Amino acid sequence: MDLRFTDEENAFREEVRSFIRENLPKPVHAKMLEHRALSKDEVVSWQRILNARGWATPSWPAAWGGPGWTAVQRYIFLDELHQFPAPEPVSFNVSMIGPVIGTFGSDEQKARLLPRIANLDDWWCQGFSEPGAGSDLAALSTSAIRHGDHYVVNGTKMWQGMGHRADWMFTLVRTDPAAKKQAGISFLLIDMKSPGLSVQPIITIDGRHEVNSVFLDNVRVPVAQRVYLENKGWDVAKFLLGNERTGIARIGMSKYLIRRAKQIAAQVQDGDRTLAEDAGFRRRCAEIEVELKALEITQMRVLAAMGEHAEKPDPRSSILKIKGVELRQAASELLLRAAGPLALAAEGEYDPPNPEDAPADTEWGSTIAPVYFILRAASIYGGATEVQKNILAQAVLGLPK
Ligand SMILES: Cc1cc2nc3c(=O)[nH]c(=O)nc-3n(C[C@H](O)[C@H](O)[C@H](O)COP(=O)(O)OP(=O)(O)OC[C@H]3O[C@@H](n4cnc5c(N)ncnc54)[C@H](O)[C@@H]3O)c2cc1C
Repeated sequence: MDLRFTDEENAFREEVRSFIRENLPKPVHAKMLEHRALSKDEVVSWQRILNARGWATPSWPAAWGGPGWTAVQRYIFLDELHQFPAPEPVSFNVSMIGPVIGTFGSDEQKARLLPRIANLDDWWCQGFSEPGAGSDLAALSTSAIRHGDHYVVNGTKMWQGMGHRADWMFTLVRTDPAAKKQAGISFLLIDMKSPGLSVQPIITIDGRHEVNSVFLDNVRVPVAQRVYLENKGWDVAKFLLGNERTGIARIGMSKYLIRRAKQIAAQVQDGDRTLAEDAGFRRRCAEIEVELKALEITQMRVLAAMGEHAEKPDPRSSILKIKGVELRQAASELLLRAAGPLALAAEGEYDPPNPEDAPADTEWGSTIAPVYFILRAASIYGGATEVQKNILAQAVLGLPK
């Protein structure tokens, strides 16, 4: 197994890097550098720039209008986005519902929806989890009762990322309450403007509004908006959740967090030297960087084993999820340590030692503690760490359930 990039792959990396540098709008890059939230318009316009180049849907085959990249090309593309840093294409669209429609959708659904998903004409959110169904997703209880050519949907969905921005929600509902857990579930597409649907914000520990609860009160959904067969939605869900896990290591993001921590540490005076020269700080940087290198090699091994186009997610991608999250969390701790008290500062809050001096601009630090806080959630979404360990124990180590 050769784990080095080929000349063609290195040339591809250069092409991607130049494109991002030349085309990412400067204000968006400035926000990404400081971990600031992007507006909906900023996300949409960047995705359309990528789509015009044919790059908004890295995992899609050419038959769906995607670039038909190999697994290694996809990895390189995401790594370059993360390291610059630039926004990823919206994953609810391109990594979740797009591949579902391409694989399970009717010809009509493919023709109508795939181009709109790629161009972010419709923003999608994921309506899977419920107050009583998270890791044990098949326990979901939102009901969909068929009346002629419509389902009537009732229930509560929870944690919908960007649900307040979304035009559509793909969701799992129970269409046969008498069937055994997984057997009675269907996969529906619901218009967020449907009468009876309401969205309520959940403010997370970083102080931001990204996730929501979605309430469904007698929402009528045309049967034509079901994907795949009635009561076979669990097959679709398993496929989607497997895709969610691939590419989840986000090594480039950790590299960027460390780069920023080092830049800040070089400005922080610690006695007669800067924090960047402190032995403890340097050792921690090196420890995380060594582990990242090892993870990168593991990622290459998983990609090599998955083969050229990697249609089927590999259970070993759970290793990438667990370790990738741990290292991103460790890198965010380093960033927090570098910024010190300024990690929570708001503009004008910091009193300079000499009252004659102008107030220092410390607002740049205000987004750092929120990054640290929200990364705690990364070991929960996309499949909690304990659940990933169960997958590894059973599917990779062969231990009994
Ligand atoms: C920031 C954020 C964004 C999210 N975005 C979305 C979204 O867009 N759409 C959506 O549908 N959902 C979303 N989720 C929900 C997410 O998928 C669930 O939170 C996750 O599946 C865990 O479910 P739970 O919260 O009900 O916790 P639980 O499943 O109740 O888990 C609680 C704890 O028990 C552990 N545990 C559970 N089962 C086992 C087991 N069998 N063995 C060992 N330990 C176990 C878990 O690891 C966890 O530590 C999001 C969550 C967060 C935090």
